[in-house]
Amino acid sequence: MIYRPHPFSWFPSAEERHATPSEDWRHEDAVASLCGRTLAGDDSTVAWLWPTCEPCDVEAHRIAGVPMHRKAAPR
Ligand SMILES: [Zn+2]
Repeated sequence: MIYRPHPFSWFPSAEERHATPSEDWRHEDAVASLCGRTLAGDDSTVAWLWPTCEPCDVEAHRIAGVPMHRKAAPR
């Protein structure tokens, strides 16, 4: 069982990290993302380093009831 503290999981696809309500996206080639797309998950090593999809991040925070974190100010 994977660690899943919220009713969504993160998964890499299309060069970004998306969130999905699907519990087991690895066995699906059409995963519904929180940003409203249908994507194929990419479980490759490099894919886990892709940046986070902003619409998925916003929706994930809304579902979790957690305010968006502020980005660090550039130095
Ligand atoms: Zn997304």
